[in-house]
Amino acid sequence: MSRRIGFILSLALLATPLWSTTPYAQSAVADLERDIRQRAAQIEDKLIAWRRDIHENPELGEQETRTAGLVADHLKKLGLEVKTGVARTGVVAVLKGGKPGPVVALRADMDALPVKEPEGLSFASKAKGKYIGREVDVMHACGHDAHTAILMATAEVLAGMKDKLPGTVKFLFQPAEEGPSLYAAFTGKSWGAKQMIKEGVLQDPKPDAVFGLHVTSGLPSGRIGYRAGAAMASADELRIKVTGRQGHAGYPWRTVDPVTTAAQIVLGAQTIVSRRTDLMKAPTVVSISTINGGSRFNIVPETVEMTGTIRTYDAQVRAGVHRDLRQVAENIAVSANAKAEVEIIELYDPLVNHDKMTARMTPVLLRAADNDAGPINPTSAAEDFSFFLNEIPGLYFNLGVVPRDKDPATAAPNHSPNFFVDEKALVTGVRALSMVTVSYLTAPGFD
Ligand SMILES: [Zn+2]
Ligand SMILES: [Zn+2]
Repeated sequence: MSRRIGFILSLALLATPLWSTTPYAQSAVADLERDIRQRAAQIEDKLIAWRRDIHENPELGEQETRTAGLVADHLKKLGLEVKTGVARTGVVAVLKGGKPGPVVALRADMDALPVKEPEGLSFASKAKGKYIGREVDVMHACGHDAHTAILMATAEVLAGMKDKLPGTVKFLFQPAEEGPSLYAAFTGKSWGAKQMIKEGVLQDPKPDAVFGLHVTSGLPSGRIGYRAGAAMASADELRIKVTGRQGHAGYPWRTVDPVTTAAQIVLGAQTIVSRRTDLMKAPTVVSISTINGGSRFNIVPETVEMTGTIRTYDAQVRAGVHRDLRQVAENIAVSANAKAEVEIIELYDPLVNHDKMTARMTPVLLRAADNDAGPINPTSAAEDFSFFLNEIPGLYFNLGVVPRDKDPATAAPNHSPNFFVDEKALVTGVRALSMVTVSYLTAPGFD
């Protein structure tokens, strides 16, 4: 060592307060991360087998009884305290570490979608299910099979090193992230994350931090994407009923026509984003997606019904769009002597990652993904993990699953029947969830 470097080092040592635990914490974390790497690698075959089993047997929201059974059996074998039937079909388990410390919650969603899987994979789904009274084909087209398997493996990794863990880990296996399947979303019930919170999953013990991940067709296999602040949109369901006065279409002056009124409302609604919303605050979408009315070519109908969705990233912008939509629809209808009734069902809040938590966990995610991690753009998809983040500081990140010889720009997106998960990425998910947990338990807080 040169004298100059020695001098700088001794200055650095002097600058480190004696009471700082950082060097100890850093070496403790390095040991724990080595342990996580080994255990995650050892469990990889089991992880892939779980994922295939769950993929082959997908279940719709609040009907995930087989999946929940697999999860609960596994967690009980690991010696965790397990509670089933949470939010109807969810599973919650608590792992107490050997040392005192904070509580970290990890979440995976378990539900599949009413999508028909094409033939091809040896473990392709042939499952049928009931979706709001109809028989449908069912497929894990959003990758929640991967999430469930990743969290089962993470539980095994962390349970294997529990004596060394300073704190508690709470595992949240959530049903119905995509919404319920036994009743319509607008019937006033709550489901998924919101229902779990109502049933007290964020109490006894209360988590200090919450983490989760989503596999994505937007990134190459094994790459982790993260974003501080608003990362995913709010999602609202919009329903507009226009009522006129039915009559003969040959003499429309004797009617009040809800069809032309509805057409004007569709166009008026498009001016809310383009003319009235401050898009510098938050990108915003208003889509009218269905329009139904009438029974015959020569009858002006009594009513026309429309549905659509509203997406944005900011609570104030969201409230402004709701107000403007009511004003535009109701007043256009009044100008035509008709009546518009507007109903807006707030499904999911914007998903807002904690800024300091994101900054703190960035180096951890880089280590978990062997340096293949980086910031990503916000997405206009929605995710009910937002409700956990409303209550507890945390981070929800993405894990790429597009095979390295394919281009994510043209890969089939989540929810497509051709959505494909490269299973090589899954072990990175286990490392990432385990490492952020250990990092937080070892040094709680955000600095
Ligand atoms: Zn989805
Ligand atoms: Zn999803």
